[in-house]
Amino acid sequence: MYVTSTKKTKKETITVKGVQGMSVQWLLEESIGVPFEMRYFEVEKNGSCPIHEHDFVHEVFIVKGKGIFVGGDKEKEVAAGDALFISPHEPHQCRNPFNETFGFICLIPKGLENEIKYRNDYGSNAEQK
Ligand SMILES: [Zn+2]
Repeated sequence: MYVTSTKKTKKETITVKGVQGMSVQWLLEESIGVPFEMRYFEVEKNGSCPIHEHDFVHEVFIVKGKGIFVGGDKEKEVAAGDALFISPHEPHQCRNPFNETFGFICLIPKGLENEIKYRNDYGSNAEQK
């Protein structure tokens, strides 16, 4: 068994172009043998990421506060306890128009760190909403 914590993991401010008020902590990474990597995100009040899409999935579980997720043509308010799935190539976005911090777990298939950790923008498909 491998155990870690948000208390032990480095909290990185996301500096990707178009992302505002978001941090990420990589909790379970490919290097320990997981098939899905687990990241914990926090979105401050008025924080958001641009609408974007990619060929891999997201599995999301909300753990703190509430926020808005956009997926395809749906837009939904979600709160702690809710889970959602973003399909490959489904345009999606998260944002927090509320007063409290919005925190969620997001799983992605392993091996995408070069695509995710070191990218510096969302490309021509990204747009602010
Ligand atoms: Zn995404």
